[in-house]
Amino acid sequence: MTRPHDFIMQCFVCGTRRARSAELLEPPSETELRHAPKEMVGSAVAAWVRACAECGYCAPDLSVGHRSARAKVRSPEYQRQLHAAGTPPLAARFLCAALLSDAAGQPAKAAQQRLYAAQAFEEAGEVALARQYNSAVADALLSRRKVLLHWRDREADWRGSEAVVLVDVLRRAGRFDEARREVEAALRKRVSSIVKELLRFERSTIERGDTGPHSQTEALGAQHESKGWYGQEDPLLEYLMRYYKKWMTPQESKAAGVGRLATPEGERWATDDLEVQALLARGKQAFASTLEQRLLREHPGEVVINRCPKCGGVARTPRARQCRFCAHSWREADVHAHAHRQ
Ligand SMILES: [Zn+2]
Ligand SMILES: [Zn+2]
Repeated sequence: MTRPHDFIMQCFVCGTRRARSAELLEPPSETELRHAPKEMVGSAVAAWVRACAECGYCAPDLSVGHRSARAKVRSPEYQRQLHAAGTPPLAARFLCAALLSDAAGQPAKAAQQRLYAAQAFEEAGEVALARQYNSAVADALLSRRKVLLHWRDREADWRGSEAVVLVDVLRRAGRFDEARREVEAALRKRVSSIVKELLRFERSTIERGDTGPHSQTEALGAQHESKGWYGQEDPLLEYLMRYYKKWMTPQESKAAGVGRLATPEGERWATDDLEVQALLARGKQAFASTLEQRLLREHPGEVVINRCPKCGGVARTPRARQCRFCAHSWREADVHAHAHRQ
């Protein structure tokens, strides 16, 4: 039976209609040092592959596809892959999806799908097969380096991140000498501070002969990205981001969210943006109070910083009448009186 939130969709390849949720498997966990390529980012289902129970079509969304898919799905090669004995279902789906990407002329997507398959093998305890698929992807990338550009990040703070993809795949394949060479070549180029630390982390794992998965958080330190303004350590900054982001410059918004990066040369802000660094030169708290003053000055009467009359702590909302720090409560009239005094 279909649940109310399910909806029926039609398979692009065979036309069968069925409930969408019926064929979903858990995607591999996001534990990798590398990003997915551009064409797969922004799609929440990029790492999920459904399979049509009727024809075996594998795709994140079974209702759409490339025109080459219809013939490919029916090919013996595809059907063999789909039903290969001993292959975990999730890995089989990704390998089938990769065959479809090959047929559609999308090499970066195919590579990423094989990497997901490798991850699925690894999570199923098939370490040798995982390594084999990582190695196959490494060969594909080495023979056509232009494909790596699909992983290039437009964000300046991730400049050079495509190099991490190749290094990581080589390392996961156990090809340490090649991985080391790629690290050194990438470090000689202009890469961002974040990417530099990722490459240094790769180098240290290569030196240990480690072929295991590692996350970006592990490589950069837990502080490299703050949890967004809702998890701000600074209540004033959280308040300003929540209510007055519309009047903040892109650099101010970025400064509010940027975290710290641990490097061998010491701790630093996790950005190469000089304007953002300048805003944060005296720390987050000082930045928050400079920002508060600017917003109050430039938008008089519109910006209300609702502070507790007793302890001065910033309330959760402009209209709150109870303090989250000292539990003091005050009447509406006090809010206006207090806002006026600002
Ligand atoms: Zn189908
Ligand atoms: Zn208070």
